Amino acid sequence: MTAKDIITLPDERLRTKSRRIGAVSAEAQAIAEGMIEATLEWEAGREHEFGAALAAVQVGLLERIIVVRHDFDNKADKSFGVFINPEIVKTDGELEEDLEGCLSVKDIYGSVKRYTKVKIKAINLEGKPVRLTATGFLARVFQHEIDHTNGIVFVDRVNDPHNLYRLEADGKFSPLPPPEAAKAIASRGETH
Ligand code: ZN
Repeated sequence: MTAKDIITLPDERLRTKSRRIGAVSAEAQAIAEGMIEATLEWEAGREHEFGAALAAVQVGLLERIIVVRHDFDNKADKSFGVFINPEIVKTDGELEEDLEGCLSVKDIYGSVKRYTKVKIKAINLEGKPVRLTATGFLARVFQHEIDHTNGIVFVDRVNDPHNLYRLEADGKFSPLPPPEAAKAIASRGETH
């Protein structure tokens, strides 16, 4: 897969729930590898952005598979964890508002409230159950990606158009002009 396989809004698939994977197969492994390739290629073309994670729906496959970067602070580390049928079993900590972007929402960032701590359950590529507790930015990433598997995009969680920003060519954020922000909010899914 390549960066061109990454779908963007208003593609309806991004508002569709993904299927659970019954048994982990070589196909799931191939999908995960393709998703990692696409994310890294997407990042290589963007000086000011980081490919932190991806959900299979973002390459048009409605399967509950997400890939999450191991190191969010180091572009040179190109390794990812793969989580199949990921779900949040418990949220904890505070709700914290921070800026979030998405490979499927071109150049728009938004301030989104997320829990600072979440407990996750998933299966790995060997088909074994995994459980982990994520905090901080990792917790945010899991909430964002698990939202994708449920057909929710981060802009669906932005209620105030003033909380949307555009990433400019120089890497700085500027407020999204009101008509564009209103359009982004109006295109929200049914979830909220
Ligand atoms: Zn996303």
